[in-house]
Amino acid sequence: MNVKRFSTKVIGWLIAGFAIVGVSACSSTPNLTDDFSSAGVRPPSGKCSVDPRSIADAVSIGNVDGRGACGIKNAWKVTAVGDVAFSTPARVRCQMVGATSRWIKNAVQPAARSTFGEPVVKLRIAASYACRARNNKRGAKISEHAFGNALDVSAFTLASGRVVEVQSGWNGGRKESSFLKQVHGKSCGTFTTVLGPNADAAHRNHFHFDLGKHGRSGKGKYCR
Ligand SMILES: [Zn+2]
Repeated sequence: MNVKRFSTKVIGWLIAGFAIVGVSACSSTPNLTDDFSSAGVRPPSGKCSVDPRSIADAVSIGNVDGRGACGIKNAWKVTAVGDVAFSTPARVRCQMVGATSRWIKNAVQPAARSTFGEPVVKLRIAASYACRARNNKRGAKISEHAFGNALDVSAFTLASGRVVEVQSGWNGGRKESSFLKQVHGKSCGTFTTVLGPNADAAHRNHFHFDLGKHGRSGKGKYCR
């Protein structure tokens, strides 16, 4: 091939390549530096007391570095906790894995066994790590999801295959409603924030759990 024609072609490819990269970078990562407030917020530590591999199907993914204050220290990708599978892998900080394990043991399974006579085998994960404001509200305080410190669950699948959804079950059939309210009520024993359909419209279709710090001491709870 003629050298001049070849180099013209290469330059053409490069320009096309940069154009594609430029366009996709613009559309996938818009400039959203002001879409949440992180003033005074101290991201949770990477400290952890339990090795997630001993209680879950989990893989260490190191530290997740996100935009602005977003990111996870000591992050894990979790596909199941104990015998309970996740509908989609969750990215959470290490301490959330232990908390989720205790929550399943102390809140979910006792409620499932007493109400339905069978255990929960799967959770529908609605969200885990996400770099965003609370309730996706522009300008609001940064969400615990932005630190991998939160998990949203929208449905529970029982061993028989029966699915209990937060949205339809909260005020639905007697058993569904009772199970969901038991789980919601007991969740505050493990997590520091628990939000459900009674909290606000944003949580009509899922439970939100996190390990955020509340109050001056950082030991408060917020469960609605
Ligand atoms: Zn949430």
